[in-house]
Amino acid sequence: MLTPFVNEYPYANFAEERPRRKMEEALSLVEGQLGRSYSLVIGGKHIETVKTSTSVNPCKPQQIIGECSESPVEMVNAAVQAASDAFPAWSRLNVHERARYFVSAAAVMRRRIYEFSAWMVYECSKNWTEAYADAAEAIDFMEFYAREAIRWQTPHATVPIAGEETEMLYFPMGPGAVISPWNFPLAILVGMTTAAAVCGNTVIMKPAEQTPVIAAKFMQLLESIGLPPGVVNFLPGDGETVGEALTGHPDIHFVAFTGSRDVGVHIYERVAKVQPGQRFLRKAILEMGGKDAIVVDEGVNLDAVADEVVKSAFGFSGQKCSACSRLIAHTSIHDELLQKVVALTRKIAVGDPVKHGIYMGAVIDLPAMHKILNYISIGRSEARLVMGGVDKEEMDSSGYFVHPTIFDEVDPKSRLAQEEIFGPVLSVIRADNFQHAMEIANDTDYGLTGAVFSYNRRHIEQARQEFQVGNLYLNRKCTGALVGIQPFGGFKMSGTDSKAGGPDYLGHFLQAKSVSERW
Ligand code: NAD
Repeated sequence: MLTPFVNEYPYANFAEERPRRKMEEALSLVEGQLGRSYSLVIGGKHIETVKTSTSVNPCKPQQIIGECSESPVEMVNAAVQAASDAFPAWSRLNVHERARYFVSAAAVMRRRIYEFSAWMVYECSKNWTEAYADAAEAIDFMEFYAREAIRWQTPHATVPIAGEETEMLYFPMGPGAVISPWNFPLAILVGMTTAAAVCGNTVIMKPAEQTPVIAAKFMQLLESIGLPPGVVNFLPGDGETVGEALTGHPDIHFVAFTGSRDVGVHIYERVAKVQPGQRFLRKAILEMGGKDAIVVDEGVNLDAVADEVVKSAFGFSGQKCSACSRLIAHTSIHDELLQKVVALTRKIAVGDPVKHGIYMGAVIDLPAMHKILNYISIGRSEARLVMGGVDKEEMDSSGYFVHPTIFDEVDPKSRLAQEEIFGPVLSVIRADNFQHAMEIANDTDYGLTGAVFSYNRRHIEQARQEFQVGNLYLNRKCTGALVGIQPFGGFKMSGTDSKAGGPDYLGHFLQAKSVSERW
């Protein structure tokens, strides 16, 4: 029997000497392994392709993290075939056996958590704690879904009737695609892959173009624990060609996707289209973007609130789907709160996060930097720039750095307040009263995370009912959901509200059969 699930939490405290030393050792171990090559893995075979992609350190793009084989579009058929071939045996295994593969993978990752974290410091410029939290979440997903699969796939009783026995059985569907983003390059990839595979499905993993190396490390780990060939296949490549071919493949039963709204909507339509010869309806499990708000009422402790706002807005340079990009402040506390938020933001250390104590690294790549800087110039014409903005010195550096930026007096209807920027840009919006603040908060297409700081019971209850977000946080920051504790995912244009890390999640990867036998 597996012990009950517990989170990999609290994280390592790098103020202490031992974790700090372990991280330094891991960083130097990983530094010695930079620049290696990684291949595709299809049906257990390693395949090197002519075309490769180079993963680089966003802080210093001349530093190569690894060279990854890039799947040509023709390889998609081979990967789907391998996943289809592996499906019959894998799906018939006892669920306890499948679960043990992932508990054992979690154990290996736990032993190597500093090393996995160090790869993310280099490949996507996470600071030590953010990188550690990403790896810890990956471990949590494996442990949590292993137990969840056993719960789901143990027959469930229905309402009894005399003379019959009825049970609900949950079966896997078949091969599916997992398409992941770069911002949680380990946790989200591991989470979606484990959820699908532990239920008995087989998987083709297509990681984000920016972070193939940490994905390859996960694939190596799965191979090292003896996961049968073809259960998980590794197909790094271009989203618009390889991803597109995968989501359109008639033998793919489901697509689990996390990424941007535009791509998510496109996949939603594509998966819904029935292909000639298709004998089942395909499912799309979609986690998309956000325009998350923190609402601050009058009468709260503004020092504590400012701290939570700054963490929510600028942790990992605001490149979290849950990041606070709108601060909606009651007019009576607006000025004082802004002053405190600015004072704390000025203390943020920006630089190469290989160094201990750096809070914000570079943003992921050049297109991301240009996109964020473009929003900053839009902001200059739409609102009042309080701090940050384009920094000439950083623009000239080779890394993709953007300083934390705050705009005030932002019009709730403006582009700054409506579009996902996905960078360290916070828009501050003034509200006349709490009701007005809630109206502004809900006036976006998105519905992912949100937070309310208030000591007014009536206002808190109103937010519980009316704030249209998949994850609502009351009197705490809007980032940092933990597996099992805060099932995560949004509605409106933020996704299919599938709630990763929650009790409903595996239902998306299963099909139910009701079986009745009359005596
Ligand atoms: P993205 O949409 O650009 O890419 C995500 C993945 O989709 C990548 O693997 C990419 O190669 C692939 N892709 C691109 N075009 C495709 C196509 N036509 N068909 C199939 N696959 C395709 O997103 P990103 O920049 O990697 O990630 C950032 C976005 O992800 C943000 O919008 C963020 O809010 C969102 N996100 C959401 C959550 C959540 O849980 N809701 C979590 C993390 C990130």
